Amino acid sequence: MNRIIIVSIGILAAVICISYCSRTKTLSPNLEKQSGANENDAGGTMVVRKPAAAGRFYPSSPERLSELVKGFLSDARKEMPVLSPDTKIVEILSPHAGFIFSGATAAHAYVELEGRDYDTVILIGPPHHVRVHGASVYCGDAFETPLGSVPVNTDLARRIASSSHLINDDERPHIQEHSLEVQLPFLQMVMKDFSIVPILIMGNKDVLDSVAHAMSDVFREIREQHGSVLFIISTDLAHFPEKKDADKCDVEILQAFCTLDADLLLKKDKEIMSRGVPNLACTMCGLDAAYVGIRIANAMGGTEAFILDRSVSSDAHVPGAGTESVVGYGAVLITGGN
Ligand SMILES: [Zn+2]
Repeated sequence: MNRIIIVSIGILAAVICISYCSRTKTLSPNLEKQSGANENDAGGTMVVRKPAAAGRFYPSSPERLSELVKGFLSDARKEMPVLSPDTKIVEILSPHAGFIFSGATAAHAYVELEGRDYDTVILIGPPHHVRVHGASVYCGDAFETPLGSVPVNTDLARRIASSSHLINDDERPHIQEHSLEVQLPFLQMVMKDFSIVPILIMGNKDVLDSVAHAMSDVFREIREQHGSVLFIISTDLAHFPEKKDADKCDVEILQAFCTLDADLLLKKDKEIMSRGVPNLACTMCGLDAAYVGIRIANAMGGTEAFILDRSVSSDAHVPGAGTESVVGYGAVLITGGN
């Protein structure tokens, strides 16, 4: 009995958000390329990344998954104002925990994308399993979810991967990573005919500045060739303090993100982390991704940011996920654009 409880709590903790500390883990043994039967444009075998988080972070049944996401979107639609079609959405920030915890908050950002067309979606998030120095761009042919296959914009992915010595095309950090994969079922429900470029980011400020600079140059150059581009930043918020402390930290870090001043975000993170908040492991597990996300939004003309929704894991009222130790989630929209 005790063993069952311990195992259940272990799984729960993983799904609330794989621990910030696990960022330093070494390579996962499961690194095989997942090849499909089809050929890609270059005449080679299609390299398709199979889902790693299905059945853990979200249902593996296509029917159950689409029903769940539809429900989240329907609830969020009732609360969200409809943006004027003239308002250009440059970027969203979305959480990446198990859908029962953070799906409702994520939906507040995704519902704003309904009826909009983007040719390419750039997914930027933190690696939780394999250390990355700078950025790793997935340059295989597609990401698969239970809802179908999403093509990678391989031209753009390779271009980004070769734009700086701090950006590589190492696919290993992507194989087990959930932070980008869990965004896809939402995208698949609100948009059609889009491709993606999955990017995992980690580094110190100098590294992040170089990565952001190189990537922004590419995005500015390709704006004409690749049509409309949307950026999605994947991060969860405060890890493991009690709810009342998480609520306070999360509001402050999201407000700092919404200033669209990347240096201010790092400053606020440092200041919050220096307070000695009990059990606070980080303000954002995707702080590096969020920092680069602001720098890219700046380069792409993003001028305003809005917090659409915020919650913590205990708000989902899942048995075993109490208020004494929580993870925070936020949904943010950045508009503007040039
Ligand atoms: Zn995380």
